[in-house]
Amino acid sequence: MSSRWSEAVRHALPLRLGLWYAGLFTVGSVALLVVTYSLLSTTLARRDHELLEDMLVRYRSEYQRAGLKGLDALVNADEGEGRHERLLVRVAGPQPELEHSAHPPSWGAFDLSRLDDPAAQARGWMSIESPDGSVLEVGTARLAGGVVVQVGRSSHVRDELLGNFRAHAIEVAIALVLLALGGGIAIAYGALAPVRDMQATAGTILRTKRYTARVPTRGTRDPLDQLGARINEMLGQIETLVGGMKGALDNVAHDLRTPLTRFRNVAESALTSGRSGAAEEALARAVEEADRVGATLTALMDVSEAEAGTMRLNREYVALDAVVREAMALHEDEADDRRLSLTWTGSPELTLWADRTRLRQVVANLIENAVKYTEPGGRIAIEAVDLGHAIALTVRDTGIGIASEHLPLVWDRLYRADPARSPRGLGLGLSLVKAIVQAHGGHVSASSVIGGGSEFTVTLPTARPQDPLTSS
Ligand code: ADP
Repeated sequence: MSSRWSEAVRHALPLRLGLWYAGLFTVGSVALLVVTYSLLSTTLARRDHELLEDMLVRYRSEYQRAGLKGLDALVNADEGEGRHERLLVRVAGPQPELEHSAHPPSWGAFDLSRLDDPAAQARGWMSIESPDGSVLEVGTARLAGGVVVQVGRSSHVRDELLGNFRAHAIEVAIALVLLALGGGIAIAYGALAPVRDMQATAGTILRTKRYTARVPTRGTRDPLDQLGARINEMLGQIETLVGGMKGALDNVAHDLRTPLTRFRNVAESALTSGRSGAAEEALARAVEEADRVGATLTALMDVSEAEAGTMRLNREYVALDAVVREAMALHEDEADDRRLSLTWTGSPELTLWADRTRLRQVVANLIENAVKYTEPGGRIAIEAVDLGHAIALTVRDTGIGIASEHLPLVWDRLYRADPARSPRGLGLGLSLVKAIVQAHGGHVSASSVIGGGSEFTVTLPTARPQDPLTSS
């Protein structure tokens, strides 16, 4: 039973926090009560002692001035006024007739014979304890002729006061502990509500294997609420990513299946045709299809590498002019066939701190798209502007353009703005461009008007990070 209880406490966080809170609160309250009690007790004892000192001086002087009679009158007057509870007042000496005791008979509980103890009298102060624990404190003044004046006070009143305090302190302490325990558990349970929500959301996601569930947030901006909002953001990203990966996988499967089907058809028709030279022809087309599959996979891996930051760049100072001209040369024939004007305006001095092969890939991809998506007779202009620390390279065309809702997505892997409208493509070109440019520490941008042409700009740094800001 007790082990089950301790097991339950270990697992129920609100209960555990509540118990801790109640424990600390109890220790704190008890310490406070103990300190208050001891302060009260010493203050009362000191006050009693000071009163005794005053009264001893007063009665001794009166005795010296007016003798026993005068003292008796003063004691009676003080008692009549009720300035304090009754005191023990005693005059003793070698002559029995001088002895006077004004102590009430109820003080019989104390061993009053000790009042005559010469050693205690010599010390000036003595304490006589009664069996019930109260103390009679007596001050002694010795006068000439062996006469002693003694004034004493019992701790009864003080003990009663402190006893009351103790009884109430225990009641207050019990009430405080119960309050701390109940309040602590309730507060901890309430404060952990967002954690329970997160647990429930995680449970739903694990059960349904869908990332659509979200942690309910209260908009209070406290750390747990903010954590909930961050988890929701993460879940949103995971949902987009999982959706994107699924879409990308479908696209890759589709893109690889088409050339493989063609590959198979070519091989089959070569086998069944029996025509001489059919085998060579089939093999040549098979190589072409295999290259296409290989190119898709290479591009996919390049994008993954660049996005993961593991793409190796052999950076050097590269003349942009030469790279642009090489890339233009790759597409000149196709541009001529489609009667497209292809122009390049840029200073031959412009230099970039880049990987030459990757830079050529960037420029070639942008030119390839411009050629692909521009109607015959259109214009393609390539320009470069020196920004000092970077160069902005723009490829502008008068092509079919991209709808504004598609524009931000064209940089995504395997995204094709409008497959029906576009010529065949893998949807990898722009994602590779963006990944390479970002790997170089640059950035990309695009603007387009549907039917009015597009403009793609890549901005790349001109110098090594530690070099002075010059491009020469
Ligand atoms: P793709 O292989 O399909 O060209 P990209 O990643 O290069 O893949 O481009 C993604 C999509 O962006 C293309 O499918 C096309 O719809 C659109 N696009 C890219 N460049 C242009 C352009 N110059 N003009 C019009 N649309 C373009």
